[in-house]
Amino acid sequence: MIKFNIALINQCTETEGVFKRLAIWFQGCEKQCAGCCNPELFPFVPANIVSLGNLLEIITNAKQKFDIEGVTYLGGEPTLQHGLAKLSKEIQSYGLGVILFTGKQYEELPQELIGSVDLIIDGGFEKDNPDNERNLIGSKNQRIICVTDRYRDSLDWFYVPRPKREEINVTENLVITGDVII
Ligand code: SF4
Repeated sequence: MIKFNIALINQCTETEGVFKRLAIWFQGCEKQCAGCCNPELFPFVPANIVSLGNLLEIITNAKQKFDIEGVTYLGGEPTLQHGLAKLSKEIQSYGLGVILFTGKQYEELPQELIGSVDLIIDGGFEKDNPDNERNLIGSKNQRIICVTDRYRDSLDWFYVPRPKREEINVTENLVITGDVII
């Protein structure tokens, strides 16, 4: 059975990519970039172990309830989760888009995974190379790569200056997401 190790899910956010999205933060990252904004997600410890079926249920519920346009994967390192391509294909079969943030380079990713998502933001965070222009993107080395045309006309979301934004959602947990505001 495919299972995922998930630190956090925000069922509806407008700060983790284009349009309204469900965002998933996966647990575990071997890269441990200095200055990463989620160091609590480094350890490979069981957080919330969620089956593929349960996760898809959460996503379809969010689609019904919040009219999300898609799902964003963040971390931790999402690509270390076995079954991520299968999850993505299922999400796309519901008409939803998939955005993947990964600390790996695009060229390192398996074709099966690349072929299952719509947009990839690649590369680890480089503390000495900060990006103060693009929204949500931490450092200048990180590339925005359109795998499909789904978000090609919506990339302004990352480039057009806007006030930095954080969201605070109070559900079962207190969730604060979005741009890092210092
Ligand atoms: S790859 Fe991403 S999640 Fe992992 S340490 Fe670097 S910035 Fe943080």
